[in-house]
Amino acid sequence: LIFQASQDPVSLSNDELPVRGLSEVIVGVLGGGQLGRMLCQAASQMAIKVMVLDPQENCPASSLSYHHMVGSFDDSATVEEFAKRCGVLTVEIEHVDVDTLEKLEKQGVDCQPKASTIRIIQDKYLQKVHFSQNGIPLPEFMQIDDLEGAKKVGELFRYPLMIKSRRLAYDGRGNAVAKTENELPSAVDALGGFSRGLYAEKWAPFVKELAVIVARERNNSISCYPVVETIHRDNICHIVKAPANVKWKIRERAAEVACLAVRSLEGAGVFAVELFLTDDGQILLNEVAPRPHNSGHHTIESCYTSQFEQHLRAVVGLPLGDSSLKTPAAIMYNILGEEEGELGFRLAHQLIRRALTVPGASVHWYDKPEMRKQRKMGHITIAGNSLGNIESDLATIVEGKRLDDK
Ligand code: ATP
Ligand code: MG
Ligand code: MG
Repeated sequence: LIFQASQDPVSLSNDELPVRGLSEVIVGVLGGGQLGRMLCQAASQMAIKVMVLDPQENCPASSLSYHHMVGSFDDSATVEEFAKRCGVLTVEIEHVDVDTLEKLEKQGVDCQPKASTIRIIQDKYLQKVHFSQNGIPLPEFMQIDDLEGAKKVGELFRYPLMIKSRRLAYDGRGNAVAKTENELPSAVDALGGFSRGLYAEKWAPFVKELAVIVARERNNSISCYPVVETIHRDNICHIVKAPANVKWKIRERAAEVACLAVRSLEGAGVFAVELFLTDDGQILLNEVAPRPHNSGHHTIESCYTSQFEQHLRAVVGLPLGDSSLKTPAAIMYNILGEEEGELGFRLAHQLIRRALTVPGASVHWYDKPEMRKQRKMGHITIAGNSLGNIESDLATIVEGKRLDDK
């Protein structure tokens, strides 16, 4: 079968793609970790130029980016200098200098998502206030300024009580659980004391955690990825299953809450909405990330358009791609540092070698310069025909059966 090019004369309107490339703007990404790295990978397919700003010379995105500016995304002068070199600014981390982003926006710099969104998200307490004001269901929460206040909240919300740091939280660093009132002081100390800015959250008695990635175009139309189940261990994302094995009504509600949450924020890009499913079938919002997210890594292999490609399309103003699954099921396993240093690298590499022998498994290694315990070093995605099959493939990799057989 031979496909012939259309003989029709080609006419280009103003909205069509520029002739030389898919995007004439350089995308500037604040942060050059694994999310920045995977953005660069998606960008290379479409010949979109991505510049990253990260303080670490050999950060994961450095070698794959069009340009890496070494510097802090939390420093005003550096962010301003970086912005001059890019056509659109976006983030792979929300802990950036948002005052400067707001100032730059006023000067006409294009930030996607908007600085207002980053401001709301980067302070978890403000985030909760924002979403509750927008009618999004979430666990009850309250600011705490001293031990007396914390005790009062404990009486109200009961125990276990989740104490969270308002700012700079990731991978559970910023969360502490007080099982009883006696544990309040140690939980507060573990987070660096009240001066860090803390708040308390009522314990969410969830049966599952779900997540939904929602992409939004610059013209505000949105596209929703399949609802996934996320399994956390010690507050860190451990495994993601796509699609989530829950009733369609639950999936529908999860997607609805996620879209509501994203519609309350401004700007283009992908947004990840973390949710709790309670035993009585309620969906509660945990938090939102205004960027690609660990719960969407599976999309690289399992969806028609990965979350990284989708984010780039959204911020540069290209049409969104299809966010549906192209394989019946996928499972993602985070490779976390098990030990510091050499031993940690060796253990991770053993796991990877086993994964390389499993059909349908894809290995991602972030090339982080240092191995640390509980650090996200890479991930493995297995795509397949049923969740049952790929779960047993994953067990084979993790438990090392295949290696032992040899
Ligand atoms: P991330 O790496 O996703 O940004 P984070 O450090 O911001 O994580 P959270 O998402 O707030 O942390 O919490 C991490 C995990 O802790 C959740 O996924 C959930 O398993 C548990 N958790 C958080 N809040 C609550 C709560 N109110 N009740 C019960 N468990 C909770
Ligand atoms: Mg978080
Ligand atoms: Mg989280």
